[in-house]
Amino acid sequence: MDINFLPKKFLGCESSFEDANIVIFGAPFDGTTTFRPGTRFAPQTMRVESIGLETYSPYFDLDIEDYKINDNGDLDLPFGSTTGALNMIQEQAKKIFDTNKKPLMIGGEHLVSLPVIKEAFNKYPDLHIIHFDAHTDLREEYLGEKLSHSSVFKRVWDFIGDGKIYQFGIRSGTKDEFYWAKEGHIYINKFNFDTLDEVVKSLNGKPVYFSIDLDVLDPSIMSGTGTTEAGGVNFNELINAIKEVSKLNIIGADIVELSPHYDHSGVSTAVACKILREMLCAILTNY
Ligand code: MN
Ligand code: MN
Repeated sequence: MDINFLPKKFLGCESSFEDANIVIFGAPFDGTTTFRPGTRFAPQTMRVESIGLETYSPYFDLDIEDYKINDNGDLDLPFGSTTGALNMIQEQAKKIFDTNKKPLMIGGEHLVSLPVIKEAFNKYPDLHIIHFDAHTDLREEYLGEKLSHSSVFKRVWDFIGDGKIYQFGIRSGTKDEFYWAKEGHIYINKFNFDTLDEVVKSLNGKPVYFSIDLDVLDPSIMSGTGTTEAGGVNFNELINAIKEVSKLNIIGADIVELSPHYDHSGVSTAVACKILREMLCAILTNY
């Protein structure tokens, strides 16, 4: 295919930045990945593959083309500099929040969530977080690095504090992480979404940031990720969970950890694109 015909924007997200209510952008950074790198290729691969989807979601009965969404492209991040990359992402998030828009970031590895959540917290001091993942991401450090995708929610906890982070689908972490969380710091629903409806009820009306690490899905449908973890949720369970979260006041969101080249069938990327469309719908139910 002629490269000029490849889509430069995610499906149906053609508004200008000025007009848009929601701004999609890519943060192609995988500098602290602990196992297999490659998430830097996710945003652009997803744009190309999104052409295989319809703009209409039968799950939400909503057409994303009827709304004002801007795909702002990818940030030009310095791969070798973690703080340099995080600063650029934070600047982008600030620009979006300052103009009363909502960011929907495509990672990249999970550490890219940190600067966006920091800006969200600056704007919404009562911020709460819904986090779907196979992993707790609560390490204090990894090989001496405090800024790692395996420690991203510990770094978020550093400023957001106890009782604000709600994790679902979790099935991997150190014993220390699980026991520390249980001391009242972090809410963890292991393996599935069983208590999501209760949590959603308790967060009614509060500003919520929604982060999906795609490895929450079972590797049988999401092999394209750096740290596959068996025993994940299936696609319909995830869609139902996203519908549940859509009842909340979502002020920003991200989808991270797709590493497209590990799945030669392309299924993982197709799944990721569909989840991104449904995340858009979940935010759009507020408009
Ligand atoms: Mn993660
Ligand atoms: Mn993970």
